[in-house]
Amino acid sequence: RAKSKPAKHCCQYEPDMDEGVRKSRGLQADILEAVKEEQFQLVYQVQCAVADGKPVGYEALLRWMHPVHGLVTPDRFIDAAEQNGLIIPLGEWVMRRACKDAASWPKPYKVAVNISPVQLVQMDLPKIITEALLEAGLPASRLEIEITETAIISDKMRALTNLRRIKSLGVSVSMDDFGTGYSSLDTLNSFEFDKIKIDRSFLMDSATNPNSQVIIRAVVALGQSLGLPVLAEGVETEEQLQLLRSMNCDEAQGYYFGKPGPYLVDDGGDNALEFVS
Ligand code: C2E
Ligand code: MG
Ligand code: MG
Ligand code: MG
Repeated sequence: RAKSKPAKHCCQYEPDMDEGVRKSRGLQADILEAVKEEQFQLVYQVQCAVADGKPVGYEALLRWMHPVHGLVTPDRFIDAAEQNGLIIPLGEWVMRRACKDAASWPKPYKVAVNISPVQLVQMDLPKIITEALLEAGLPASRLEIEITETAIISDKMRALTNLRRIKSLGVSVSMDDFGTGYSSLDTLNSFEFDKIKIDRSFLMDSATNPNSQVIIRAVVALGQSLGLPVLAEGVETEEQLQLLRSMNCDEAQGYYFGKPGPYLVDDGGDNALEFVS
């Protein structure tokens, strides 16, 4: 009886499902072609020290320059790429490109690269990172990988083994979007992170919701107790920066400091790096 069930289910006509499958097939074919046609691009967003506003690193963020739809942001295609496995070649491309770009920067800023949960459980991820660093001539100490906490839960043992190997290379690991998963503290306890990134939803809320301020303060204190620097995501205003400063939050990232932009070059000034398009 159990065996016949899926077959019967398959035979039922579900117009909505059919439409969904067709759409995702289209996207899958598009992503495949886009990798070949080099339609993907990395933009970089600055990460600054809260105390003096000086840049400490840049996060690489993926963009798709689609020939028909124009610029497509990751929330539109990362999920699909994770489901059909294309995130693996795509993620490898991101890692290589980001390491090469960072190696060409005039100052030794760190580069932060987002890693998908699908990549994290691939046995060859440490090898891919090692090769990207070697190929670019980038010291491992300048690479940081960002992992969203929900990412880790699916196959904890494999993720743990991979993270240990990656850390032993000298690469650091940040916990991204902290506070949005369903087991933030357990994840923080199980993995040896080097930084906590507080999800931007808490800062977005902080002007109107006093609870958000309390939570940010508590996460900063948690980081201090654990000896981990805390970065606040989504800083858009001077007031938000002041709030973070009053809490002794370590780092910040957001439109206030700069939007993600393409191509990093030396402008010769204090900040040394500027974007041109
Ligand atoms: P994330 O890693 O948490 O990246 C931060 C996101 O917040 C970025 O969105 C950034 O543009 C946006 N952001 C930064 N500052 C502000 C601000 O002040 N206000 C507002 N409203 N937004 C801000 P983006 O580039 O659309 O990326 C979305 C997510 O897609 C990323 O979240 C990350 O999880 C994922 N992603 C991006 N690039 C990659 C990649 O190369 N590989 C993988 N696996 N995921 C990626
Ligand atoms: Mg990130
Ligand atoms: Mg984030
Ligand atoms: Mg995110």
